[in-house]
Amino acid sequence: MGLFDEVKQNVTVRQAAERYGLKPNRSGLIRCIFHNDKSPSMKVDRRYYCFGCGCTGDAIDFTAQLFDIGLKDAAMKLADDFGIPYSGRDRGSPQNRRSVSAKKPEPTPEELWQKKHLRCLRAYLDYLSLLLEWKEQYAPKTRTEEWHEKFMTALRELSVVEYYLDILLFGDRADKEALVKEKWKEVERIEQCEREDKGDRHKRTERCHERNVPDGR
Ligand SMILES: [Zn+2]
Repeated sequence: MGLFDEVKQNVTVRQAAERYGLKPNRSGLIRCIFHNDKSPSMKVDRRYYCFGCGCTGDAIDFTAQLFDIGLKDAAMKLADDFGIPYSGRDRGSPQNRRSVSAKKPEPTPEELWQKKHLRCLRAYLDYLSLLLEWKEQYAPKTRTEEWHEKFMTALRELSVVEYYLDILLFGDRADKEALVKEKWKEVERIEQCEREDKGDRHKRTERCHERNVPDGR
């Protein structure tokens, strides 16, 4: 049997997707890798089928698209990654082999998502520690003293930020994705704010306060 047949026989699209970090949801769906898919609409099984753009194919087509490589390279990559022996394996040109492995450092969609999630998480962790500082630093010293605005902000927003962090750390995948998507602009503002006012603590806290009040949930 030739390389292509061996691979098609032994590797399903679902196995390839999981191997390369794309975890299907409970319905066996992932985000389509052929079109800009907002929510998972690609069914992965033995073959893939996208309900959004209608594309379909086997594990080799899938892998070729995912890593942006040719079908032959994709078939060899799958054979290597799934330990499938094929005739002519050792005769494969070393150049081809190198070009396949050279693609590896490129981030997969899953790795890109992990990065985005981490960035969001960091931004909110920073914001959390800022709010905790305010809560302590601006706490009223006496019973009659009027509450400082930052103290009230901290009280009000801590629970919101903690709620976001709870989702980012312990939520299920769909909730995390929804939150990252919804709050992405805000995260960029928090980071921008940090950069602009680095070293100028007072100004930084003022601006962060003005510009990054999370809307309530
Ligand atoms: Zn699609």
